[in-house]
Formats: sequence, C-alpha cells, structure tokens
Amino acid sequence: MAQPVYLRPTRVEDALRALAGSPLSVLAGGTDFYPARVGRPVREDILDITDLSPLRGIVHEGQGWRIGALTTWTDLIDHPLPAAFQGLKLAAREVGGHQIQNAATVAGNLCNASPAADGIPPLMALAAEVELASLQGVRRVPLADFVTGNRSTARRSDELVSAVLVPSHGARSRSAFLKLGARRYLVISIVMVAVTLDVSEDGMIVRAGVAVGACSPTARPIPALEARLVGRPLSSDLADLVRPSDLSVLTPISDVRATADYRLDAALTLIRRALREAGSE
Ligand SMILES: Cc1cc2nc3c(=O)[nH]c(=O)nc-3n(C[C@H](O)[C@H](O)[C@H](O)COP(=O)(O)OP(=O)(O)OC[C@H]3O[C@@H](n4cnc5c(N)ncnc54)[C@H](O)[C@@H]3O)c2cc1C
Repeated sequence: MAQPVYLRPTRVEDALRALAGSPLSVLAGGTDFYPARVGRPVREDILDITDLSPLRGIVHEGQGWRIGALTTWTDLIDHPLPAAFQGLKLAAREVGGHQIQNAATVAGNLCNASPAADGIPPLMALAAEVELASLQGVRRVPLADFVTGNRSTARRSDELVSAVLVPSHGARSRSAFLKLGARRYLVISIVMVAVTLDVSEDGMIVRAGVAVGACSPTARPIPALEARLVGRPLSSDLADLVRPSDLSVLTPISDVRATADYRLDAALTLIRRALREAGSE
C-alpha cells in the first residue's frame, strides 16, 4: 500500500501549489482533525500548514481586522482589540480548556463547521468574511455563506482559508456572547448567542448583528430582530423587542443534550440576556 503524503511547507505559494495538484487534508491545530480519526490510522494525504508563519497573527489594515488563518484562540484572547470583539473573546475563552485554546485556530473552527462551533455566532454577528486563497487568486466570502451546512463549507479543495476578515466597528460598538451547556466548563454548546451593536455618537443603534448557534445545521443570523433594533437608543430595554416569531429561522433538533423545544426556549432567553448586557451602559 502506498504511504500517505505528508507535506509541511513553509511558504504559502508551495501550500497552494500542493492543493492545486491533488486533494489533501489540511491540518492546522489538529484539535478537530485528530478526534475525528480516533481508532484508525491516518491514511489520507496531509497538508500540515502549521509552518506557514505569515498566516499567524492579527493586524488592522484598511477597513478592518485581519485574523490570519493560523491565529489561535489564545492569540485572539491576548491581542488588544476594540470593544466590538468582546463577544468573540468571551467565546474564545469557552473553546475547550487552555491547552485547546493554545493549539486550536479560529479558522479551523470555521472550516470544521460544527453546528456547535463557538466561534461562528460571534464572527457572524461581527459581519466577518472568510478569505480563501488558491493559485487562481484570492476571494472573500461572507461567513454566513461560507458555512453551508453541518460540517460543510464553500471552500474548494484547491483553496486554503488564509484569513478571517472583520470590518471595523465604531468605537461605541458593543457585543456579548452567551453559551449554555450542561455544565460550566469544557462543554459542547446546547445553544449560544452572539450580539454586536454598532452605535452612533448620539447613542443610536446603526447596525445590529444577532446570531444563534447549535439551533440549526449552521449558526443563523436573526434578521427580523436585527432590523427591529436599528434606530433604537442603546438601553437594557432592548430585550423587550425580542419576539418568539423572530426564531422562526431556526431549526433545532432534539438530541442527547436537549430537546428542540428547550433549545428554542433557551435561545429566546439568551438573546434577551445578551441584549440586556450589550445594551447596558
Ligand atoms: C477537548 C476539546 C474541546 C473542544 N471544545 C470546543 C468548544 O468548547 N467549542 C468549540 O467551538 N470547539 C471546541 N473544540 C473543537 C476545536 O478545538 C475547535 O473547533 C478549533 O478551533 C479547531 O481548530 P484547529 O486549528 O485545531 O483545526 P484542525 O483540527 O486542524 O482542522 C479542523 C478542520 O478545518 C480544516 N482546516 C483547518 N484550517 C484550515 C485552513 N486554514 N484552510 C482550510 N481548511 C482548514 C481541517 O482540514 C479540518 O477539516 C474542542 C476540541 C477538543 C479536542
């Protein structure tokens, strides 16, 4: 039997050339990759991207923030970022324990596309885009379009996710993230909710991002509520604007962690709490 190929390039161009040549499984922090292969030898061809150092780190450039594909959750927690990122930082602290956060990448969380991925709702609420690189060039895809289903994404096999891009949000922007699990730490989410509110100088909401995870095959924005929040003054009373019908975009399942009805009920409560938090001065 032919030995699987293991590539660990140090230049992004070499990685893209390898991906263009034949299908390869991309390996970053490995914290989703290895648990998905427990009990069987790895026989597929691997592209280990951990030596592509230009892809690690967070920079502010042009109209927003660039989170390189190899940026870990710990890198994100440690990096000074504006208040709009508070929700994403709270989510980062919920991804496994410290060892996982030290190895696992933000981009890997999006590429793995679990319905319970804690990084997806806060990045969706921040209107993030995913940057995909290939020998054909670079394209940007809104995160809401990148994740197409449970464990499926819009990434072509010749593409590497090179960065997660977050537009600049104003100095007065606020955010919140709440996760419900069966216990406090090291837990797969039953529901999580992320909110970002962009606020004008005179305290009015000019854009709202509200996203719910673990209640559908992919995290979903709540567009009816987002539209209703725009034009309102920042206040803890924002929670009163939430209507049960707003959640009609969600399609929760019943499983070992919770019933579908419980998930919907919990989502409603968490959205109200998150808006109360983000809306308070
Ligand atoms: C004990 C434990 C606890 C965990 N707890 C949580 C939790 O609480 N919340 C949560 O959301 N997740 C959790 N996870 C899952 C995991 O840690 C995260 O999803 C993590 O962010 C994945 O990043 P990674 O770099 O390890 O990805 P990898 O495992 O390296 O890759 C994941 C997938 O993405 C692909 N991929 C990675 N990077 C790229 C890229 N740049 N371009 C194209 N494809 C790419 C890989 O091919 C693979 O399919 C946990 C995992 C473990 C083992």
